[in-house]
Amino acid sequence: MAEDKILEVKNLQKHFRVGRNKTVKAVDGVTFDIYRGETFGLVGESGSGKSTTGRTIIRLYDATGGEVKFNNEDVHGKKSKEELLKFNRKMQMIFQDPSSSLNPRMTVMDIIAEGLDIHNLVKNEKERKERVEELLEVVGLNKEHASRFPHEFSGGQRQRIGIARALAVEPDLIIADEPISALDVSIQAQVVNLLKKLQKERGLTYLFIAHDLSMVKYISDRIGVMYLGNLVELADSDELYNNPIHPYTKSLLTAIPLPDPEYERNRKRVPYDPSVHDTSEVPEFREIRPRHWVRCTKKEFEQYKKELENE
Ligand code: ADP
Ligand code: MG
Repeated sequence: MAEDKILEVKNLQKHFRVGRNKTVKAVDGVTFDIYRGETFGLVGESGSGKSTTGRTIIRLYDATGGEVKFNNEDVHGKKSKEELLKFNRKMQMIFQDPSSSLNPRMTVMDIIAEGLDIHNLVKNEKERKERVEELLEVVGLNKEHASRFPHEFSGGQRQRIGIARALAVEPDLIIADEPISALDVSIQAQVVNLLKKLQKERGLTYLFIAHDLSMVKYISDRIGVMYLGNLVELADSDELYNNPIHPYTKSLLTAIPLPDPEYERNRKRVPYDPSVHDTSEVPEFREIRPRHWVRCTKKEFEQYKKELENE
């Protein structure tokens, strides 16, 4: 049976006009699917276009080109207010920096209830309060927190508030844009564990964005690697770790710290050298093994295949 696709992204492009005659091709032809219930990790260094991809999928930006389907329905193109509201409810976003994504002048109650209000999900004030208090407990905070303001919380707690806000409208897909990057390492695992627990309990699907592979490895079912607006490799997590093919993926993998001091002393990040590529034609996304895709030319494809066989 074919896996159930919740999201289909085809040849997505988002170009920004900067100044009078400069264009930044932040996302330039990205294609991937996300299956219902999985965690899809999107990885790449800063500036590779990860946030723009997430924001365009969710329609915070209009796409320059390409297609996004959510539950088999077109997300982009002309939409009625009701249709947009429906997408907006079923796809939610969690941001990297909870202090700038939470309105400092709103109480936690009003922040979390915002979606409930917009989508008319509660009948009265009492129900509104109960729902918010319940959500606070679901994310590991408590109901006394409802009357406070964002600045009264730690970074990890603020991220929990952001998670509660997203959960309030009962989404199917959550796009988490570097949700742990701004947190202390000791807090990161707690937030990741919370996200995993919620996923299990609620059947959520995640697009989890990160700038390195260290945490993503443990939480993703599949991973896409982004470089300068394009996906360069996509595979099941284990396959990507055990058999990375694209030189950029290999370079990212050498940047993961290991709990071995001896190894860490000698570890060097292998830099990525884009000049190693064959330039005889425009590279395409090709399936080199079942479910394992790599962006390459035909010539590189043959070369990568040989490398895989010789392992
Ligand atoms: P990432 O999330 O991987 O760090 P971004 O998606 O934020 O990457 O950015 C990708 C590229 O697009 C960068 O070169 C960035 O400067 C540019 N960019 C992002 N947002 C805008 C914008 N609103 N206007 C102009 N350029 C932008
Ligand atoms: Mg980003």
